Amino acid sequence: MSPQSVRNLVILGATGSIGVSTLDVVARHPERFAVFALSAHRQIGRLFEQCLQFAPQFAVVAAQDDARDLQQRLREAGSRTEVLAGEAALADVASDERADVVMAAIVGAAGLLPTLAAARAGKRVLLANKEALVLGGALFMDAVRAGGGSLLPIDSEHNAVFQALPADYARCPDSAGVRRIVLTASGGPFREWPLEALAGVTPEQACAHPNWVMGRKISVDSATMMNKGLEVIEAHWLFGALVDRIDVVVHPQSVIHSMVEYVDGSVVAQLGNPDMRTPIAHALGFPERIEAGVTSLDLCQVARLSFEEPDFSRFPCLALAYDALREGGAAPAVLNAANEEAVAAFLAGRLGFTQIAAVIAATLERANGLSVESAQAILDTDRSARTLARESIRQRETQ
Ligand code: NAD
Ligand code: MG
Repeated sequence: MSPQSVRNLVILGATGSIGVSTLDVVARHPERFAVFALSAHRQIGRLFEQCLQFAPQFAVVAAQDDARDLQQRLREAGSRTEVLAGEAALADVASDERADVVMAAIVGAAGLLPTLAAARAGKRVLLANKEALVLGGALFMDAVRAGGGSLLPIDSEHNAVFQALPADYARCPDSAGVRRIVLTASGGPFREWPLEALAGVTPEQACAHPNWVMGRKISVDSATMMNKGLEVIEAHWLFGALVDRIDVVVHPQSVIHSMVEYVDGSVVAQLGNPDMRTPIAHALGFPERIEAGVTSLDLCQVARLSFEEPDFSRFPCLALAYDALREGGAAPAVLNAANEEAVAAFLAGRLGFTQIAAVIAATLERANGLSVESAQAILDTDRSARTLARESIRQRETQ
């Protein structure tokens, strides 16, 4: 490979679970990728280590104080990385003309603006931050088209669907003959718990996912199955699929990462060990295949693949997400904001596990007149919905 083809990579959310897995893949291919910028919210120690190992031109953190400390530590260690602070700096590095590929791996709505900036600037955007698409799907997909770059899904289900679709799907989706998209779901740690035990679930229990090691917010989302709900909305925007053509099937082994069914009855699936380095390497190398460090799938060891219908009474969050997508408009953004607030309150020990869905439902009921027409409208909607959700959480705290 010629030196010109080295691609400059920005990782938004480098210190998180997806960020660390991305750097693991990147370290295997120094001839292909140079790290241009890394970002972290508060994990300054980890970001420091990453800067020493990958020597990015820029490191971005949230607070000025942290930036000053990190800059000093890096200088003392002989590093030439320049440290920036704040949201605008995130958008700046994500849209810098020297950057080619942007991994969007910030968790939650905080990832929206820098990811949007990368899309507008025509970057290859590798999207892990599903909340950005749930909040502002139409705006985001328009930005990708207007920017002329590309969008590759990192979420394992959507990456699987992308791999199972024909290569020219984005150009002519109608002639592809897709009947439906089937997203697989592990069902999380509480799939078989007695329903009456769910009210007492602790954050530690909710974060102990049977198959995947992930950040705390997405782990709770997996336990409530809101994660699958957000993924239904994500699939709608990524693949232009109507809500009634996106199904969810519970598949506890997490070996089939998702499927596409065609009109002739063919069902094409992508399989592999549950390791996020596979979709990350797929998107980093696309259209080439590159080594990810993932072990071969041993089907005889897996032995059995099983499937069941999702239980909407056990997982009301999944039903709320389908309803929000059917309602359209600002409903998915309200759903996302209320979920982020409710999950944060649950993780802080202020809200019961089964109250998460109740807070989201109450917020959806009370929110009206909100819009997602522009980036500013989305941010306003997000803020209003969070205010409503916090009120609902406070009421439940005092009960
Ligand atoms: P994580 O909590 O492990 O990491 C989040 C990253 O975002 C960290 O680097 C953190 O510093 C940064 N961050 C957090 N809040 C921020 C803020 N307000 N401003 C700027 N940066 C902030 O999360 P994760 O598990 O790596 O997930 C990241 C995203 O990828 C989420 O949207 C998640 O839904 C999605 N995703 C994750 C997985 C997985 O296996 N972990 C799988 C599919 C999709
Ligand atoms: Mg997923």
